[in-house]
Amino acid sequence: MLAEDNVPDCESCGGCCAYSWEWPTFIGDWDGDGIMEHLKEDGRMRCNGNRCAALMGTLGESVFCSVYEHRPLVCREFTAGSDACHAVRAQLGLDRPEPEE
Ligand code: SF4
Ligand code: SF4
Repeated sequence: MLAEDNVPDCESCGGCCAYSWEWPTFIGDWDGDGIMEHLKEDGRMRCNGNRCAALMGTLGESVFCSVYEHRPLVCREFTAGSDACHAVRAQLGLDRPEPEE
């Protein structure tokens, strides 16, 4: 779903959380603090394939981050509606054209 300003709704997307197992990597000593150990691996979030283990729900439909309060810095800095966001969504087939009225 796209809002009028072309910013997708993260809660019905989740693309950047399922794009690359390398992406949710911790930066610095404190990054990742507060996240349960079983969701972490080798200095990053544990992933199942490319999907972060903390991502709950159905990709492209309804999702949420189960560690949102403690999510890594890279997740905090990724901006919905940015070129990178749309590139991820396009790659995963989530940037569908809006139906014509
Ligand atoms: S790819 Fe963009 S819209 Fe989708 S969850 Fe990430 S920031 Fe939000
Ligand atoms: S920690 Fe949360 S915001 Fe970051 S990739 Fe995993 S599910 Fe997405």
